[in-house]
Amino acid sequence: MPAKTYDTIAGLRGALYARRAAGAGLSVGFVPTMGALHEGHVSLVRRAVSENDITVVSIFLNPLQFDESADLDSYPKTLDADVRLCGEAGADLIFCPSVREVYPDGASTRVEMDGPTDVLCGKSRPRHFSGVLTVVSKLFHIVEPDAAYFGEKDAQQLAVIRKLVRDLNMPVTIVGCPTVREADGLAMSSRNTHLNADERKAATCLFRALAAAREKLGDAAARSGAPRGEGEWASLAAKVADAARAVLDAEPLARTEYVELLDAETLAPLNDSSKAALCAIAVQIGQTRLIDNMRFSLDG
Ligand code: AMP
Repeated sequence: MPAKTYDTIAGLRGALYARRAAGAGLSVGFVPTMGALHEGHVSLVRRAVSENDITVVSIFLNPLQFDESADLDSYPKTLDADVRLCGEAGADLIFCPSVREVYPDGASTRVEMDGPTDVLCGKSRPRHFSGVLTVVSKLFHIVEPDAAYFGEKDAQQLAVIRKLVRDLNMPVTIVGCPTVREADGLAMSSRNTHLNADERKAATCLFRALAAAREKLGDAAARSGAPRGEGEWASLAAKVADAARAVLDAEPLARTEYVELLDAETLAPLNDSSKAALCAIAVQIGQTRLIDNMRFSLDG
């Protein structure tokens, strides 16, 4: 059955009510997206379809999470193809509302968070995570999913949403899904279509930098074991970040915004080898800003 599309909150709620009423205990999986869908998004939809009775995908380019209007204006828009891809992946309902439907005149409530929103991408994009938290909270209220699916590609977003759900006692399970990559390692992203041929080649530096970080972390662990104390942890994080940065610095088209090794869950400095580490990077290639990350276990 092809997926049905709804552009109003009332329409989607009515359809969900009717489907839920068809059987007691039917589960709803939800995949929020901003459109321009690729295989990364499709992997989330397939996972939601495989784990739930009803799958809802939202396609909404959320203006609140763009700090720069040029980035919003140039964001690729491919709604017809997106709807087809969602249907092929087995989605049941697609929610593609207008900006006015989501933010009617006078809507001025924002969801804010301290802590993990202030580091990494939050440093250069001060309004971004409040925009994400606000729209995700609204979408959770509209869809009322049992489980929501997010990509590990946006690791900071995933950490922040896990915290949102914990902090506000939202009854939804957050499922993180692995990053889908091109054959040469580049993480799939709607923004990759902005890269010209030279920039596309240069963009492999993100994955190569993460591979260098993994190697450095492995070497350091083999040589000196788990760090003891704040100073040793900071020195390990700096060494691993430097190894990744050297790869990025060697790519003339890349301008590094950040490279950091942090606690994968809290995004605070590392201090415990039983926790996972996240190496996160953001790079500007031409006019396009790309992010990527890898998670490493620290206990061997
Ligand atoms: P976006 O449309 O960029 O907001 O992304 C919607 C969802 O798809 C987010 O949870 C992203 O983390 C996820 N996503 C984007 N790219 C990928 C990818 N290459 N692999 C897995 N998930 C992804």
